Amino acid sequence: MSFPTGTILGYPRIGRRRELKRAVEAFWAGRITADELEATAAELRAVTRARLVELGLGKTDSSIPEAFSYYDQVLDAAVTVGAIPTRFASLVKPDGSLDLAGYFTIARGEGNNTPAEMTKWFDTNYHYLVPEIGPETDFHLASDRLIREVAEATTSGYRTRPVIVGPVTFLLLSKPSEGAPEGYQPLDRLDDLLPVYAELLAALTAVGAEWVQLDEPALVSESIDVPRSAVLAATAKAYDLLAAVPVRPQIFVAAPYAGLGDALPVLDKTAIEAIGLDLVRGTIPTGFTTTKTLVGGVIDGHNIWRGDLAGAFEKLTALNALSPSVAVTSSTSLFHVPHDATDEPLLADQLKSWLAFADQKVGQVATLAKGLVEGKGAIQGELDAASAALKDRHDAVGVRDGAVRARAEALAPSDFARGAYADRLAAQDAALHLPFLPTTTIGSFPQTGEIRKTRAAFAAGRISEAEYKEAMRAEIRSVVELQESIGLDVIVHGEPERNDMVQYFAENLDGFAVTQNGWVQSYGSRCTRPSILWGDVSRPSPITVEWSTYTQSLTPKPVKGMLTGPVTILAWSFVRDDQPLRDTANQVALALRDEIADLEAAGIGIIQVDEPALRELLPLKKSDQPAYLDWSVNSFRLATAGVEDKTQIHTHLCYSEFGVVIDAIDQLDADVTSIEAARSKMEVVPDIQSSGFGRGIGPGVYDIHSPRVPSVDEVTDLIGIALGSIPERQVWVNPDCGLKTRGYDETVESLTNVLAATRAVRLQHAH
Ligand code: GLN
Ligand code: ZN
Repeated sequence: MSFPTGTILGYPRIGRRRELKRAVEAFWAGRITADELEATAAELRAVTRARLVELGLGKTDSSIPEAFSYYDQVLDAAVTVGAIPTRFASLVKPDGSLDLAGYFTIARGEGNNTPAEMTKWFDTNYHYLVPEIGPETDFHLASDRLIREVAEATTSGYRTRPVIVGPVTFLLLSKPSEGAPEGYQPLDRLDDLLPVYAELLAALTAVGAEWVQLDEPALVSESIDVPRSAVLAATAKAYDLLAAVPVRPQIFVAAPYAGLGDALPVLDKTAIEAIGLDLVRGTIPTGFTTTKTLVGGVIDGHNIWRGDLAGAFEKLTALNALSPSVAVTSSTSLFHVPHDATDEPLLADQLKSWLAFADQKVGQVATLAKGLVEGKGAIQGELDAASAALKDRHDAVGVRDGAVRARAEALAPSDFARGAYADRLAAQDAALHLPFLPTTTIGSFPQTGEIRKTRAAFAAGRISEAEYKEAMRAEIRSVVELQESIGLDVIVHGEPERNDMVQYFAENLDGFAVTQNGWVQSYGSRCTRPSILWGDVSRPSPITVEWSTYTQSLTPKPVKGMLTGPVTILAWSFVRDDQPLRDTANQVALALRDEIADLEAAGIGIIQVDEPALRELLPLKKSDQPAYLDWSVNSFRLATAGVEDKTQIHTHLCYSEFGVVIDAIDQLDADVTSIEAARSKMEVVPDIQSSGFGRGIGPGVYDIHSPRVPSVDEVTDLIGIALGSIPERQVWVNPDCGLKTRGYDETVESLTNVLAATRAVRLQHAH
């Protein structure tokens, strides 16, 4: 059976109306049983298969990926091969399996057992759970879930293609389990892991699978801590061995997110049958021919644009010169995009005609597959329609705004630079009168059900604007009072008016649209609804000024204005693909620059511009990183460099792997930077010290990802670690991140402890 001519690497798992999220959360809350959850999931899988056939994939040609997950595909692979962290050993049943509750416990933790660490999946907004592999990990085929799902499909008349994270990527994404010896790497266990994959392949054949997809995105990444030669050797060994399994499905290795580079000839030398190439991020390999099927990922799985279908078909034609057998697919799994662009009643029809969500992308794949089989003439109509939509988009009102472009073109280097830091420091000291170890928070306070209800009521027109504003002001009053009573030095308004730190700005800027049903999975049951940045960006009127000035009217202490930075706005939106990101980032920066000027003019002396996504957009290829860091840093500088010396610019980043981007953070030239640090026990402090970072820095002292209240002693210790390495004058005291996901009781207790610790340290240092 040859490889299907058209396929996708994966499809959204949450359901068109987030049915899976609802069911999983109902199960966690004890409202439904495991059997009921399983039934909902089976129903979703059935609906997905039927839908994919309706959209043009074949029912029995292995083109439908069997790629469901209750929580995360990496956790699924770990559970399949029996890699359960030792602290969860008691969840494993005598037959070696885990029930659903146990599966979720690894993801979410229980009592003193912390959950598996969560980290970003390549350069996307998705987070996976990091497997923990040690010398003691007992690999064995511990879950037949994937096998049962394939059997379920076969029974209902389909022949689907099971998808699992491949063995090399699985080990490269794992971390050594606690207590593993020095120098040990999970990849050392490859020989023990491969027999389990071999057994799985054999079992998949037995239930009807003719093809299997092994996802090996780690092969494209240059941010892996293992020498490339070892990665390539592991790849050769793994696929030589799996290809030698006597009875197995044919093997398709997919390598999304960038080009395969020198891993391509290595895979080609093994006896697997098909190789997937990301031809959106990567390019057509040169000087390479093969007898294997080449599966061209020419439909962008990352983004939501209908795009250049004729150009995509040309790439496939070029692949035809490299292999007698070519197929078409999405560049990545489609779980990075929402289900269906036609399911957006509030989006303008013209905008919708430019979009392709998952369902539309499946249609595009089916079209290109038809072209591969019947020739270009057979799909000329569809190619022309896509080109016409592109032209319509190019010419549409708002896509190009003369005033916005003229302003961007007139920018000079001085627009990106503030005055010397020493002058700023002196002016800020004189203006702000902050104590030694100034204390503040990252911006948001707990978002109570009440606040959400009020926002929803206003959005639905059930309460008037006046009522809404008064409700938000009341909330601000109580948050300010609370901060004053706890004794914080720099006051925030708490962000009650924001549903989401990016969408809030998207709703208030021109050039953006927001969707109703455009949810994508961020991790587990958590979904986000990215905005669509489709046109030139500008700010029709001030956004946050009214809230900040109201807040400042309530207190003599400095109030910190709160904005989301250009890089984060881009990272957490679906961004236009018809111009360089640098240009789009600068437009957003100019809109923010105007907002900052208005805040400053209204008497707000401290302004924070959050950039939690700075690290996450960092390209996987080292050669692409300098250009990225250049435009991202410059857009932040463009947003913030217009202020006077006495105005203090803060920024906030929510992660602690600081090392790689420390120079970029330095070049942001913010006066104060707050970062996550409590969770990692100040691991980041040596990096800050060795980099010689010279401006204000607030390594978090309160881990807001957990409901735990840190004790005064704990916080005192953390402040001590910071003061041990960083010059005293630079140190700020703050939580790791915003407080919006926390409850009030724990927040009040925790902040009270933070202040008690700060006062104690201040006393010790009063000499
Ligand atoms: N100011 C935002 C908040 O406090 C920052 C959130 C973030 O870093 N993700 O909620
Ligand atoms: Zn944060």
